[in-house]
Amino acid sequence: MTPDARSSPPSAWLPVWAAVRRLVQETADLAFASVCAGCGAAGTALCASCDAALAPHVVRLRSEGVPLRAGLVFGGVAASVLRAVKEDGQTSLIRPLRPALAAAVDDLCAGAAAPGRIDVVVPVPSTRAAFRRRGYRVPEILARGTGIPLLRTLSYVRRVQDQRGLSAHERRTNLAGGLIASRTGAGASALIVDDVITTGATCAEAARALRSAGFRVLGAVAVAATPRRG
Ligand SMILES: [Zn+2]
Repeated sequence: MTPDARSSPPSAWLPVWAAVRRLVQETADLAFASVCAGCGAAGTALCASCDAALAPHVVRLRSEGVPLRAGLVFGGVAASVLRAVKEDGQTSLIRPLRPALAAAVDDLCAGAAAPGRIDVVVPVPSTRAAFRRRGYRVPEILARGTGIPLLRTLSYVRRVQDQRGLSAHERRTNLAGGLIASRTGAGASALIVDDVITTGATCAEAARALRSAGFRVLGAVAVAATPRRG
């Protein structure tokens, strides 16, 4: 190795170091967290009984023609753990949520709605405010864990209001035309990934943006979905 090569390590190693650092941090989080994110029991980040409560139970929905699948009903332990991930920075808890997302992907792809293979997974983008607050993008971390090639192509074309607290109709209006794809799809099959499906408005808008860029949208998957009344 020349002295030059030693003093400037190849930039290809940087993502490896970032991944190692995150793994060390997450292992430490799991080992030293004082309470269970699901039930508050002391001594562990997620107790065995809450871990068992995250066993997938697929929810099937549809929004504006887009098939939606979630691995869990949003409520109880699933809601508490997702809140810990999204609001308390406990990204180590994404790992026990992965089986739910995988079940949603399997269920969608087994159905007639999504024949053929998936070319890319496209995470729903986080709003700038959400990214500033958290410092990480949950749908993107989830999408990365599917093992399917990730494509970050969606972004907001304008400021949208925080969706929390809005009705289904307000969410649709708030988001209409709000997303754009930066790449052309040329017929590539795409699966949209989000963390939680509430009304389906975000996934429907993501599907519209991807379709208008030439992607073939298979549907959208999430860890959990809010149950619908009626
Ligand atoms: Zn627990």
